[in-house]
Amino acid sequence: MDTYSRLYALERALSDVAELVNLLSLVRFQPITQDRWRWCLGSDGVFKSKLLSSMIDEKKLLPGNQFAETSRNKSIPQKVEIFVWRAKLNRLPVRSELDKRGMDLDTILCPICGDETKSVDHLLFKCKKVIEFWKFFLKWWNIPDSRLNSLDPLNTDSIFGSFSKHGEKIWEAVKWVCCYSLWKARNNKVFKNKEWNISSILSEVQSLSFGWISKRLKKAPLEWHQWNINPGFYVDTSNIRTGIG
Ligand SMILES: [Zn+2]
Repeated sequence: MDTYSRLYALERALSDVAELVNLLSLVRFQPITQDRWRWCLGSDGVFKSKLLSSMIDEKKLLPGNQFAETSRNKSIPQKVEIFVWRAKLNRLPVRSELDKRGMDLDTILCPICGDETKSVDHLLFKCKKVIEFWKFFLKWWNIPDSRLNSLDPLNTDSIFGSFSKHGEKIWEAVKWVCCYSLWKARNNKVFKNKEWNISSILSEVQSLSFGWISKRLKKAPLEWHQWNINPGFYVDTSNIRTGIG
């Protein structure tokens, strides 16, 4: 090492020492307290998995995410919220998406109707067999078929003219449960060769949505019989859903 390099190394070392001394000057030692790790997410410095889980949820679903505001609905489990978030981002592993990513598939046709390219849009709204389900769903809500074009399962739609206090959240939650159950039914058909049955899918939607919403939205208590025959009772404050508008 030549003289210049030695001087340079010495200068760097002195600079590092000065920086270290500066940092240590801010430290206050407390002889009776032992050193310990401190969890910076909580004010008490103690690790809690709940805080970590909240931070992950926040990063995934809140500020900075383009669908943040529409992907939260506390009346349903997070697994359904995350499913909807992925669907909106077109990130469900449907055949057309897998094909685009280079997977070698026997077919990219819809496993439900067998004659259309399978995309998220097709799976949740456009498939003729899925349209049959949505018609059946509207019947449950006493909403005429003619309103089908106003229905948007993943987003806000114009089916209802006005909502009761928790109505908008309940309506959104039930539609999202439908999408979740359609996805499950599609997987059961593809992987377990189970029959596609819209009556079973709707029964599952009715019971899952009732259980989840009742448990989480305690300020809007539901009654099973009412839920079964006229769920609009909990959602709509007008009579617009009878078909006009
Ligand atoms: Zn189809």
